[in-house]
Amino acid sequence: MAVFNKLDNVEDLYEIGEVLGSGHFGQVREVRERATGARWAGKFLKIRKCASSRLGMERKSVEREVEVLQALQHPNIMALKDVFESRAEVVLVLELISGGELFDFIAEKENLTESEAIEFMKQILLGVGFMHSKQIGHFDLKPENIMLSAKMAPNTDIKIIDFGLAHRFQPGEEYKCMSGTPQYIPPEVINYEPLSTAVDMWSIGVITYILLSGMSPFQGDKDEETLRNIIALNYKFDDHHFSMTSAMAKDFIQKLLVKDQNERITAEECLQHPWIKPLTRKQVANRNRSSINMKNFKKFNAKRKWKMSYNMVWVCNRLHRLKMLCKTSALVDEELRQCESDQEDTETKPSSLIRRRLSSSS
Ligand code: ATP
Repeated sequence: MAVFNKLDNVEDLYEIGEVLGSGHFGQVREVRERATGARWAGKFLKIRKCASSRLGMERKSVEREVEVLQALQHPNIMALKDVFESRAEVVLVLELISGGELFDFIAEKENLTESEAIEFMKQILLGVGFMHSKQIGHFDLKPENIMLSAKMAPNTDIKIIDFGLAHRFQPGEEYKCMSGTPQYIPPEVINYEPLSTAVDMWSIGVITYILLSGMSPFQGDKDEETLRNIIALNYKFDDHHFSMTSAMAKDFIQKLLVKDQNERITAEECLQHPWIKPLTRKQVANRNRSSINMKNFKKFNAKRKWKMSYNMVWVCNRLHRLKMLCKTSALVDEELRQCESDQEDTETKPSSLIRRRLSSSS
């Protein structure tokens, strides 16, 4: 069981600064270590007070996230420094990642060759490969969770964040879970089948497809349609959006978007794929000649950001309505006050069985 620091108050050791982002169960804020002046990110997570409550996070889930982060020390994975616990809150002190999201960084560029995009893909694969070598699956890989250590290239590294859905497999364990973000989940999640780390490889296939074309391979008008497209493996490389893409890149994606998880290539195998590691001059030339569909990518990213802020407003409005309904109950009101960032969905449509994330861009 993960041991949290209950003796010290986080504010005695750290000065709490500006909000960097918000998630399902709390905020991430910049914090400054009083003793050294060093800057970190503090993830403030509200803890569920009683088992029957739907507000806040179960302590067990926080423990899982902490244990996973403690097992993962890698240059491409966000590092955990410390954990504090108070009555209603757990605070994770994390490496501060100041370069923003990879997709935002790319969207600001005028053009990007496949070779440049591959440098980022390689780092994602190194981080994910390391995770998988520890039998840990992230299970929520998507653009929002792939950040950069700094804003200025070339000194910027990929950092994978948000291990809230991550799972460490025990030998022989059968693990099923219906969670993630519809656009990025593989068929086995939707079908509630036993999962493996191959779930992440499918998500990497989707992310690569989007990165190269600015299109999301399975995206339907509604989540139900997206999920149906995933199960039917209904995607194609249409000439219009993939006119600048190399055949090697398409082959790479095709080896990831495979229905049978045992047939999907692993992170290790990806790193040996000729698109990532070309063996001949011709392969190198093909990569350099091919580029990402920047016009479409910018459009995709703008829409994604718009949906993220829309979701945030929707969550706030929903909480406000819930609070109005419950204002006769002082107890519920108190819980809501303490768990302002919670946004669990109470819909019962099939697609809502997939645990949604605040930053869902589906
Ligand atoms: P979600 O509901 O999306 O799963 P969460 O509650 O698990 O979110 P995170 O995704 O870990 O929270 O963090 C929320 C946001 O805070 C991120 O999207 C990012 O913008 C920012 N953030 C998280 N960790 C860091 C960090 N170490 N450094 C800088 N910003 C961060």
